[in-house]
Amino acid sequence: MKPFTYERATSVADAAKASADPSVRLLAGGTNLLDLMKLQIETPARIVDIGRLPLKDITETPDGGLRIGALATSTAIASDPVVRARYPLIARALLSGASVQLRNKATAAGNLMQRTRCAYFYDTTKPCNRRIPGSGCSAIGGHSRADGILGTSAACIAVHPSDLAVALTALDAHVETTNGQGTVRTLPVADLHRLPGASPHLETDLAPGQIITAITVPPAPPGEQIFRKVRDRASFAFALISVAASGPRYALGGVAMKPWRASASEAVLAAGGDVDEAVAAELSQARGHGHGEYKIPLAKRLLGAVIRQSRGDAA
Ligand SMILES: Cc1cc2nc3c(=O)[nH]c(=O)nc-3n(C[C@H](O)[C@H](O)[C@H](O)COP(=O)(O)OP(=O)(O)OC[C@H]3O[C@@H](n4cnc5c(N)ncnc54)[C@H](O)[C@@H]3O)c2cc1C
Ligand code: SF4
Repeated sequence: MKPFTYERATSVADAAKASADPSVRLLAGGTNLLDLMKLQIETPARIVDIGRLPLKDITETPDGGLRIGALATSTAIASDPVVRARYPLIARALLSGASVQLRNKATAAGNLMQRTRCAYFYDTTKPCNRRIPGSGCSAIGGHSRADGILGTSAACIAVHPSDLAVALTALDAHVETTNGQGTVRTLPVADLHRLPGASPHLETDLAPGQIITAITVPPAPPGEQIFRKVRDRASFAFALISVAASGPRYALGGVAMKPWRASASEAVLAAGGDVDEAVAAELSQARGHGHGEYKIPLAKRLLGAVIRQSRGDAA
């Protein structure tokens, strides 16, 4: 393993300033970063541990929404009484992922910032444009059954693994960030991650030196909140396809390198179209990549089932 230095951040501003250096990695729960370091995929020269910064609180906001500190753990969020009462979608998404031990360490910001689970990204003997820009994509023409069907490119077909991001996208949540100068910026969770295009190694819209301090969730719209996740095993497995619903809003996971807001479906339904039309509108551009073809009918069925359930006509 490459040697690195370790230090504890004593303020959010100092952590943000440090993170402007590309050789620095912020350590939150460490459940993704440390795995990547063991495999030499992440090779930081300096680790800045943000785990003791005061970013763990989960508080109600004056508008009736919720502010979740960046360092709140999955367990703390999923067991929070307000989350359970008003945002069960968030609790269900978090409880569908990882294991109890991991959820006790994993943080909200770390979850959003975790890297893809594409098998070739983790295999340093194989080309991967996301790991080494310009080296090629082993998943295209290789084993791609877990890869994406929307927003992929000739450079990368991976998906983002976060279940939390899918739930937050259906809830219209925002990410709150700050930089070393204390400039606060908020952006929709739906806009945090980038589609791969020609530069899959550029994964988010966070500028260098910008760190996540919180997630803000507006009051949930009336209507049922649903999270359904299809995976290989009943636990300890990432989504092959997931769908979140918050009233009339829908988002898909396991389809793209970002949580996929089903805006086309929502528009069809708002205009009086039926569920089949809504599903077709969202997935008309879907494209499988060999082993991943099965995801297209799977996504159609799951999205259709969730829309029907949310409208009270579930079979
Ligand atoms: C076996 C296993 C199964 C899993 N299953 C699922 C699953 O089904 N669904 C799911 O959604 N997740 C799953 N996970 C992922 C898990 O939820 C993430 O590993 C975890 O949420 C990452 O949080 P962390 O605090 O440990 O992040 P870390 O590993 O500490 O950090 C991850 C990345 O986020 C960056 N980061 C951390 N905090 C900030 C911040 N405040 N601002 C900017 N950048 C930051 C770090 O620098 C690093 O690059 C699984 C993980 C494992 C190991
Ligand atoms: S799909 Fe993306 S992450 Fe996977 S091998 Fe190709 S470039 Fe790498």
